[in-house]
Amino acid sequence: SPVIVWFRRDLRLRDQAALSAAASAGPVIPVYVLDDECAKHRRMGGASRWWLHHSLEALDAALRKKGSRLILRRGRCEEVLAQLARETGASAVHALHHYEPWWRNAQKAVGKALTLHLHHGNYLAPPGSVTTGTGGAYKIFTPFWRALNERMPPAEPLRRPHTLAAPERWPESDALGDWKLLPAKPDWAGGMRDFWEPGEEGAAGRLAAFVEAAARYEGQRNLPAIEGTSFLSPHLHFGEISPAQVWHAVADAGGSVATFLSEIGWRDYAQNVILQFPDYGATSAKEGFDDFPWRSGAQAEADLVAWQQGRTGYPIVDAGMRQLWHTGWMHNRVRMIAASFLVKHLLIDWRRGEQWFWDTLVDADYGSNAVNWQWSAGSGVDANMFVRIMAPLSQSEKFDAARYIREWVPELADLPSGEIHDPAPMIRPRAYPARLIEHRAGRERALGAWERFKGEG
Ligand code: FAD
Repeated sequence: SPVIVWFRRDLRLRDQAALSAAASAGPVIPVYVLDDECAKHRRMGGASRWWLHHSLEALDAALRKKGSRLILRRGRCEEVLAQLARETGASAVHALHHYEPWWRNAQKAVGKALTLHLHHGNYLAPPGSVTTGTGGAYKIFTPFWRALNERMPPAEPLRRPHTLAAPERWPESDALGDWKLLPAKPDWAGGMRDFWEPGEEGAAGRLAAFVEAAARYEGQRNLPAIEGTSFLSPHLHFGEISPAQVWHAVADAGGSVATFLSEIGWRDYAQNVILQFPDYGATSAKEGFDDFPWRSGAQAEADLVAWQQGRTGYPIVDAGMRQLWHTGWMHNRVRMIAASFLVKHLLIDWRRGEQWFWDTLVDADYGSNAVNWQWSAGSGVDANMFVRIMAPLSQSEKFDAARYIREWVPELADLPSGEIHDPAPMIRPRAYPARLIEHRAGRERALGAWERFKGEG
């Protein structure tokens, strides 16, 4: 009898342990279930849905080259999969393990209804398996990474299955277009179409390009004006490439790639954090932090919108927020600056920023987004502190963002490099928004709020 392969954030044929196991067990029915109910308010955001549409198209095309195809169904995973098993006589479901709280619930429900085989393969090591000497979970990145790195390299990636036997009769499939994952009016995805190629081949292309440049990563990764990072994050998030594939390709290239490999380790770390704290995207880890005196009311809401639209009057923040809106991605250094600015200068709850990123990033990832937002806010399990306030103007200068600002904030394009980070009032073009708050005033307001919070706590 046939077996079902349940695809989720693992939309690839290579190094896909669930697909490989199913391929050797009998005819294979690959299925993707769009389940907005199980994730509830964590249903995929707009940019992710755009990506998903194209990635499913690419996966279906790759399967068809093997004489197979992707079946699309919509509804609650456990019900849809049980129905599909009844229709096809399938004996078992193979899937990769996922760790978002809603996926863990869905895995339990599917496991109750059907024979479910969960395989490892979307992380360097199975989340939860890297533990301290006494068997506890790590909370801080550095010791976690030391322990994980000792277990590296990861196993050699699996090859794409040679053949995928088709079932006697293909079950019915939804039409992808009917899912309406793409934006209609307005179509805001033009910049994303220009910049990305979702799918396994697009991921392989990015990796091949990065391997050539990997030795320069260490020196360039903090410079937003340079394409010095891998741009693999949405591909890794959707599992169009596995971290083991990335690891081996980059390590084989030689040179000093340790920093890059540790960034891949951050991805694993984030999954270990959400395994320990499933609510990490909505609840601050530091005791009492959710009662912080965040600003609220009409002015705070207006400031939030200005931040979202890249109109804060801080060129580096505005460049980043516009890059995000246009391409669905933002440079990591600028993500840190923009997040710190929202939480500290504007004193707006980090969860509002997390939600915006969730909706607009093509790499929006529950674990990585929550871990990085809580790190930025100083509310997380690690040692970062609220009172460490990034100075956006000097960060912009230090990391040489002039060309980046010119690209994303055209109002400032004519300013000389020395002036563009912090344009003096006399030369500030009129079309460019005034600062929402001066740096020093923002800093003092944030520190004052912190003192009040501590006093009350
Ligand atoms: P590279 O520098 O080439 O790194 C390679 C890979 O390592 C990335 O693709 C990513 O998978 C992983 N990685 C790198 N840095 C981190 C990190 N700090 N945390 C976790 N994984 C990392 N990354 C996401 O994938 N999804 C998110 O939702 C997300 N939200 C973020 C929110 C904030 C406020 C901040 C400061 C960072 C966030 N990041 C997130 C981390 C990081 O900014 C992106 O992973 C990185 O910019 C992606 O670009 P790249 O693929 O070129 O990265």
